[in-house]
Amino acid sequence: MDKETVRKLRERLSRPGRIVLVPHSNPDGDAIGSCLGLHHYLTKAGHQSNVISPNDFPSFLKWMPGAGSITIFERDAAAGRELLRAADLIMTLDFNSLDRCGAMGPELKETGVALAMIDHHQSPEAYAEIRYSDPAMSSTCEMVYHTIAALGGNEVLDEEIATCLYAGILTDTGSFKYSATSPTTMRIAAELMERGADHTAIHRNIYDTNSPERLKLLGQALGNLTILRPYRTAYITLSQQELDACQFQKGDTEGFVNYGLSLEGVVLSAIFIENKEEGIIKISLRSQGTFSVNDMARAHFSGGGHVNAAGGRSTDSLQATAARFEALLPQYERELLLA
Ligand code: 5GP
Ligand code: MN
Repeated sequence: MDKETVRKLRERLSRPGRIVLVPHSNPDGDAIGSCLGLHHYLTKAGHQSNVISPNDFPSFLKWMPGAGSITIFERDAAAGRELLRAADLIMTLDFNSLDRCGAMGPELKETGVALAMIDHHQSPEAYAEIRYSDPAMSSTCEMVYHTIAALGGNEVLDEEIATCLYAGILTDTGSFKYSATSPTTMRIAAELMERGADHTAIHRNIYDTNSPERLKLLGQALGNLTILRPYRTAYITLSQQELDACQFQKGDTEGFVNYGLSLEGVVLSAIFIENKEEGIIKISLRSQGTFSVNDMARAHFSGGGHVNAAGGRSTDSLQATAARFEALLPQYERELLLA
């Protein structure tokens, strides 16, 4: 974090204030972990802190300390609005554009409250007066660690803070395997362990919580896998009917897209998931090497993210979306072969 950003943030937090922390819609481990980690820190530093999530989050994140105190805006908009209006500072975590938090986005701006951003996605928008943005970072949780250190509070890193930050680093680095995992990320993870993060329990809480229905859905997804060898690409589709047949719960499809990428020689993997209620196909893209799924998601699927992990959406049907994806591949052939 540069000196000017530290100075601005210090100034904003120099007196006890009401701080609201906001993750993106459909928050993942990094979004919830960074909000809760910072929430515990701010509370310990004497502030009144609240986390408001645009919508609900998966049950494999609900064990995190403080998860029960999160206001869900979609469910409880009145309470959320009251907290937003009374805030002295709103901090947005793990996203780079206000449209990433759905109906809450415009409301954040309308409050007129000062905004601060902590985020590691590419091409951040300029909505926040305090902006800590670094696409080279492994995770927003790693950035929250640096934020707490810059605010001079490293000694208050306790088990609660350490557990939340470790969980987010773990999930956003694919258990420390993605290329954005740096030696510093590893050192921070080690320090978080020393501060009380139980790495075995955290891993189990996140990854070993399968239901039989989720495993059935995984079987269905793998059965639907299409491999396009000439383009080093694989993709999965899941229709609403298939999701319903496996009693789909939020978070059940997390990680499915990685199976395509586990195929030898495959450098681009996609999953297309139908959501009848929202009338969209939710898209997740993953790549290996130099192929930028951020560019692909931005150009064709109203989304974005990182070079090797991005998401987006389509309002076409499931079949039409998959067909559109396939039709795009020839124009990316060279990049796919060189990735
Ligand atoms: P996922 O595929 O797990 O939903 O998301 C992968 C990455 O892309 C995450 O870093 C996420 O924040 C980002 N992402 C997912 N969906 C969208 C989207 O609709 N728009 C943008 N800009 N980023 C997205
Ligand atoms: Mn993240």
